[in-house]
Amino acid sequence: MNDIYGKDDATTIAIIGAGFSGTLLAVNLLNQTDARVILIERLPERVGRGVAYSTKESNHLLNVRASNMSAFPDDPDHFVTWLTERGAGTAHEFVSRQKYGDYLSETLTACRKSCGDRLQILHDEAVSVVERDHDALLHLATGEQIVADRVVLSLGNLPPHDPVSNLRRVVSADRYIADPWSYTLGQNLGAEDQVLIIGTGLTAVDVILRLVSNGYQGKIIAMSRRGLRPHRHVEGLPRPTPVLSKPAPTLSGVSQWLRQKSREQDWRLSVDSIRPITQMIWSSLDIRTRKRFLRHARPFWDVHRHRIAPAIADQIDELVAQGRLEFCGGKPQQFDEHPDKVVVHWRPRGSASIEQMDVAQIINCTGPQGDVLRSEDRHIVQMLADGHIRPDALRLGIDADGYGYVIRRDGRPSRHIMAVGPMTRSSLWEVVAVPDIRSQVSSLARRIGNCHWVGGEGL
Ligand SMILES: Cc1cc2nc3c(=O)[nH]c(=O)nc-3n(C[C@H](O)[C@H](O)[C@H](O)COP(=O)(O)OP(=O)(O)OC[C@H]3O[C@@H](n4cnc5c(N)ncnc54)[C@H](O)[C@@H]3O)c2cc1C
Repeated sequence: MNDIYGKDDATTIAIIGAGFSGTLLAVNLLNQTDARVILIERLPERVGRGVAYSTKESNHLLNVRASNMSAFPDDPDHFVTWLTERGAGTAHEFVSRQKYGDYLSETLTACRKSCGDRLQILHDEAVSVVERDHDALLHLATGEQIVADRVVLSLGNLPPHDPVSNLRRVVSADRYIADPWSYTLGQNLGAEDQVLIIGTGLTAVDVILRLVSNGYQGKIIAMSRRGLRPHRHVEGLPRPTPVLSKPAPTLSGVSQWLRQKSREQDWRLSVDSIRPITQMIWSSLDIRTRKRFLRHARPFWDVHRHRIAPAIADQIDELVAQGRLEFCGGKPQQFDEHPDKVVVHWRPRGSASIEQMDVAQIINCTGPQGDVLRSEDRHIVQMLADGHIRPDALRLGIDADGYGYVIRRDGRPSRHIMAVGPMTRSSLWEVVAVPDIRSQVSSLARRIGNCHWVGGEGL
């Protein structure tokens, strides 16, 4: 075992995870500070792309227009310039996520060229982080160790939990696809087969498109408790206007405000206009109200807020019209596997009766999760066991303070371990999409830089 960077070196920041959050934090740190950065990613194909932008499907489109997808908050045209220089799209388009991945990885490569050996990218897995008095010690799966002044957890979302707890025990792995991102979907399925997708949000939309582009001809049933599916963006709307009269920081205050505004304009503009202050509204809600939001309002918020590109919505509508796709509200109760099928016993929404359907495959599209206590990831399990991290009160991710430092099990903020991206959504809520994460990583890099100036331990 050897230390990659010793104590004599310049300030060293180790970042675990090279998706959008980790990559852009690295780029910002290299541009804004003189720190050395070690970027660690366990899956080489995800470096500079992460889960969302390593897709190989050209029909997977961004759900945000190119004009709002710059990687840098202080250079809003950065992505559009990249696109137009290559003749690859315009500001108003919903370009492919694959193209966006090319943009991110080229941005990382350009930064690497200009920063020389200040950036090191390791294809490895972090298996544990130990906080010490003056630094943190990071162990990698290959046996390497890294001594770093700061370790930033940039782990993205956790894979979806099983929608029914015994599903893996009662249905074999070729009939139950637990991780929608890691499987060649549609294999070994015939035109007469039915597929049940559990979940009706953005992950379900991705999987439906992948099934179809892989040649699957059979019927798809997408089921969630309410059966709500993401709304579509529409063309030709003006830009949302800034919010001058803020809604009261209660659930009913916000929903009344949205209803009122949506009587005056397209509801999409109302939802989008609230976005710059969503984090502020969230932070003014008490924990009980946040819990009520998650229990009752979240599914409605998600389908209005996270909309799909018109071209994608057209494809989904077409599949529904052809009878190849059905969205339904209900809850699976029990699964019986037979040699040639799985019988799903399910309860339709609002009904007491149990119905049955025969399916060839079940795909878990319940969406990304954040409850670290349910994680099987050895790195997370280890950090929890050592008390270096703890779940936040809403079980949305990792508990962290307003500066990004994780909160230890004993309630004290860490001095060397930080977190960014979707796992910090408990304190910010709106930190899952590029426009929010780019601001978070840019200000974190600036704070780390300033902290170095004042010789500080704490920010
Ligand atoms: C399918 C999909 C589509 C989306 N579309 C849009 C969109 O159109 N517009 C938009 O604004 N936002 C979109 N988002 C949201 C947003 O862009 C992503 O959530 C964001 O990219 C999150 O990046 P991340 O780096 O935090 O996480 P991830 O992309 O998940 O990256 C985390 C990385 O950490 C690595 N990792 C984890 N643990 C370890 C470990 N122990 N050791 C080493 N490596 C580790 C993982 O392999 C992974 O590559 C989308 C998200 C998804 C999932």
